[in-house]
Amino acid sequence: MDAGGGTPMLIVCAEVALVEAELVGGLLSCPSCRGVLGPWGHARERVTRRGSGDWRWRPRRARCRGCRGTHVLLADVCLLRRQDEVEVIGRAVEAHVAGEGHRAIAARLGVPAGTVRGWLRRFAANAEVIRGFFTRCAVALDPELGPIMPAGSGAVEALEAIGVAGRAWVLRLGSRPVWRIVSRLSAGGLLVRNTSSLATRAW
Ligand SMILES: [Zn+2]
Repeated sequence: MDAGGGTPMLIVCAEVALVEAELVGGLLSCPSCRGVLGPWGHARERVTRRGSGDWRWRPRRARCRGCRGTHVLLADVCLLRRQDEVEVIGRAVEAHVAGEGHRAIAARLGVPAGTVRGWLRRFAANAEVIRGFFTRCAVALDPELGPIMPAGSGAVEALEAIGVAGRAWVLRLGSRPVWRIVSRLSAGGLLVRNTSSLATRAW
């Protein structure tokens, strides 16, 4: 999607009124410099395929009062460069790790098989970075967490780390669907090709 010339995305909740209140109230901070963000128009319309049907929306843009950079506010039901809702993608990943093939998953979710295969391949390719990132998130959210044991192949371990980070988030910050937590923590970058920002991102 339009990333404003490569400026960092900020992931916010999908409830538009709440985001608007946070933005106008100066409660959102710049992903580049942690300065205060203010309203700065909207990005172009996009369509997100949600389980409940297509959602047409225009992401809010914000401008930092510190560094003057502009940022697109992406809802946490999305991932970068993916048209399907993160919860649908997450269900596909969970089913595949549990042993289901991509064609069966695609038929069940009503998504093209090639799309599902693309998600699963990217998740597998990013698995080591995903596992490391969400393990760091989990420890940051819950410093008393015990060691996370390796549980098998790359994708299995990556999904396990996501689960642990999700539980740590809920205990610390309150209930939220785990795949929306994934979007928020990874800044939408779970399935990006270049994982350098995830690999180095501290939380
Ligand atoms: Zn800034």
